[in-house]
Amino acid sequence: MAEKYVNLWKSLDIDLEKHNQLLAVLPQIYTDLVLSQKNRPKKMDYFDFVISEIHGLRVEELVKLRGEGNKIIGAFCLYAPEELAYAANATMVGLCGGADFSIPDADAVLPRNLCPLIKSFYGFKIGLTCPYFQCCDMLVGETTCDGKKKVYELLNEHVPTYIIEVPHKPDTVQGRSLWLKELEEFKTQLEKLTGNKITAEKLKASIELINDKRKALKRLAELRKATPAPISGLDALIVTQIGFYDDVKRFTAKVNELCDELEERVKNGVGVTDKNAPRLMVSGCPMAVPNWKLPSIAESAGASIVVEESCVGTRYFTDMVEPKGDSLNDMLEALVEKYAKIPCACFTPNDARIESIDKLAKDFKVEGVVYYTLQFCHSYNVEAVKVGKALKSEGVPMLKIETDYTMEDAEQIRTRLEAFLEMIRGKK
Ligand code: SF4
Ligand code: SF4
Repeated sequence: MAEKYVNLWKSLDIDLEKHNQLLAVLPQIYTDLVLSQKNRPKKMDYFDFVISEIHGLRVEELVKLRGEGNKIIGAFCLYAPEELAYAANATMVGLCGGADFSIPDADAVLPRNLCPLIKSFYGFKIGLTCPYFQCCDMLVGETTCDGKKKVYELLNEHVPTYIIEVPHKPDTVQGRSLWLKELEEFKTQLEKLTGNKITAEKLKASIELINDKRKALKRLAELRKATPAPISGLDALIVTQIGFYDDVKRFTAKVNELCDELEERVKNGVGVTDKNAPRLMVSGCPMAVPNWKLPSIAESAGASIVVEESCVGTRYFTDMVEPKGDSLNDMLEALVEKYAKIPCACFTPNDARIESIDKLAKDFKVEGVVYYTLQFCHSYNVEAVKVGKALKSEGVPMLKIETDYTMEDAEQIRTRLEAFLEMIRGKK
């Protein structure tokens, strides 16, 4: 890939030498962790191809879109209203960092005791190693956690960064009203940036576009209720990760094609593990590309991950945006309604998340939950206490894993997971 796209990367001011080092390691990691899995669905071919072209083809498409006068918006959270961006003829890409590679660049500036997801994306920007960042005309941040909020101020020195204030008590009247006002203001900012007016008609169309993407991912999730699961947790995670930067229509079509194949598998009882493999839910912090550490360890130890209660998982696609009418205000209210149902640990209280975990555990016949928290993520780390209590009362065991992006603790995690799986098998 390197030679073919070198001029593209140069045009984006990428640090070619450093970037080559990144590209040199990714294919091997993907081969070792992903392509080595047994009995993968054939329709994963498309998603493997997207990853193989991760800094090539899609970046080329984004640069072309910019050349045609479209704007690219970078985002870091599900609360960034992608429907509004598309209604302004802009394209949104997810920029959350899932790689250890960029962390040394961030460590030179940021405090060490900060969540790796934040350090990873900041390192990609200041190290000039992420072509997606380099394509962005504007970033949209949000006030979900203090670390992100402060780092957005630093990013603003490089790319104009607009911050949406997310209410932490979303079910109150004042919370709803603040959120609506924040969306109205973001709409104005987008109109200013793109020169395009966001009409009710355009917003309706983009809500349908994104709802279709969410529906396809939900269809994929539903198929994983089967025993044995027709797709590995690692592959399902990769599909969802790709959904944050691929072309929306093409991605939706490809997920539906994959689901057609999985439906056949379910009909014929074909799975990726034997039917006695312990069924796990992973719950907690989001896993951004290329963070495949936990699922690859868990599944190579014999688990079947059947659901991710995460923003790169069910929180993204459980609910659709459902406007009650055709006016712009109806649609903005529907966006607020949908986002307020995404139970991020920044909310207080966050009972909806506990209820959702309980429900998912039942619906997906989950035998154990791996609670995944990134180091220094206080919200998810502390919320583990309530989640653990709720699961205990339902008789579902939980294993909490707090980790970062290095592989230093991989063997320790493997040992703990093996013991957890053994305990689940012992209960059968
Ligand atoms: S976990 Fe919270 S802050 Fe992170 S993407 Fe999800 S909603 Fe946003
Ligand atoms: S994982 Fe936690 S600390 Fe890190 S960005 Fe998300 S909410 Fe903030």
